[in-house]
Amino acid sequence: MINGLLTINDKGIYCQQADVYIDPWKPVNKAIITHAHSDHARWGMKHYAAHPLSIPIMRSRIGKEIKVDSWNFGEIISMDGVKISLHPAGHIPGSAQVRLEYKGEIWVVSGDYKLENDPLSGSFESIKCHHFITESTFGLPVYKWKPDSEVFNEINNWWKRNKEEGKFSIIYAYALGKSQRVLSGLDTSIGPILTHGAVENVNKLYRESGLKIPETKYISTEIDLKKYKGAIVMAPPSAAGSAWIKKFKAYSEGQTSGWMALRGTKRRRNVDRGFVLSDHADWNGLNQAVESSGAENIYVTHGYRTIFSKWLNEKGFKARVLETAFEGELNDLEEGSVKA
Ligand SMILES: [Zn+2]
Ligand SMILES: [Zn+2]
Repeated sequence: MINGLLTINDKGIYCQQADVYIDPWKPVNKAIITHAHSDHARWGMKHYAAHPLSIPIMRSRIGKEIKVDSWNFGEIISMDGVKISLHPAGHIPGSAQVRLEYKGEIWVVSGDYKLENDPLSGSFESIKCHHFITESTFGLPVYKWKPDSEVFNEINNWWKRNKEEGKFSIIYAYALGKSQRVLSGLDTSIGPILTHGAVENVNKLYRESGLKIPETKYISTEIDLKKYKGAIVMAPPSAAGSAWIKKFKAYSEGQTSGWMALRGTKRRRNVDRGFVLSDHADWNGLNQAVESSGAENIYVTHGYRTIFSKWLNEKGFKARVLETAFEGELNDLEEGSVKA
């Protein structure tokens, strides 16, 4: 449990002094949203506040009519004496940590985050605080990511080989954030990039917001796939095994996810190749974020919370588990099935 400037109740993480929730899971009056993934940005809030890059996605997914304030990174908003600001979390484009300060007490709600810098999501900002709420989606020592450049080499080499064999390369990544990160790492000299509608919808919204995403071709019903032999196809995980895939005839399938670090995951998901690429911090990243926050009190949510919180306690932090309705990348793997 938490007690102080922030508390938790059946609706979400709550700041009573400012009367505002962060990523609430039930309808409330005022909500600050860390990012637009469906377990964090939910329907039914009277009033939202979010980073400008999250807003078009929220309007598309939650509803055009939502009332939402646009907060830039570092801009300080005062609510009943509480100074609130958003800071880069590096998870997906526009994803934010929320910093709250009241009478000298500083809290940071990290939302989902990763430390590896990428061209679209920017880099995680380390913020000094007294209380740090961290995720722990991959809070086990077995989760250790390679640098992006290595993973993209693997993906591009796999694509080249498939092309030589006359196959399409179908690569699965959840539609919001991960797909665009993969797109940015593709070597476009190999061939064209085709997209599933769920991915293309997000591409369109991000491009309209000014993000640079490589050229893609949406796979409409009219497309003549014979003209695109050897192309790479970006699709959400939910497309795997669907009738939609059959149209490619000769193809190889790859999945990008942090879960691919575990042996057996690739087999269970029935793909030819697994690429270990996550938008969450790995074990070292989580430890680094906790340590550099300087916080004494750590609250752990998302994923391996019991194990990670126990580990932090052994290291001398006051850590405890925070039960929330956030689901992590387990949910994100299925994200393509959500209206995108
Ligand atoms: Zn997320
Ligand atoms: Zn999440």
